[in-house]
Amino acid sequence: MYRKVFELKTSARLEIIDISSAIDSIVTGSGVKAGLVNVFSKHSTSGIVINENESGLVEDFKNLLKKIVQNDAGYNHDRIDNNADSHLRSLLLGNDVSVPVENGRMELGTWQSIFFIELDGPRTRNITVTVLP
Ligand code: ZN
Repeated sequence: MYRKVFELKTSARLEIIDISSAIDSIVTGSGVKAGLVNVFSKHSTSGIVINENESGLVEDFKNLLKKIVQNDAGYNHDRIDNNADSHLRSLLLGNDVSVPVENGRMELGTWQSIFFIELDGPRTRNITVTVLP
């Protein structure tokens, strides 16, 4: 098992960042030729997803997240911490993804990228990458 935690500095409250190349470097560095890589965010106001990195589509993702979870809807959590919308968006996205590793590389589809989704930035985030043979 090979594990690495990397730091990501985000720059907006809602931001979608392609982390595929960072993950690919870790997979290559792990020496694992065939197995599985898991990418996990240690935060409850972020998400990890796989989708297509097309600039218009990335804007559509942001708009969808804002539309399905309103910013200020009288949430209970806002009484103690003013970021219920961030937690609720995170709940819908999930905190990790796993991708098969083959020939020392991630087996992503042609149009697939791994995104870290910042939902309560800007912050410094830690992402745990575990490569399993
Ligand atoms: Zn909170």
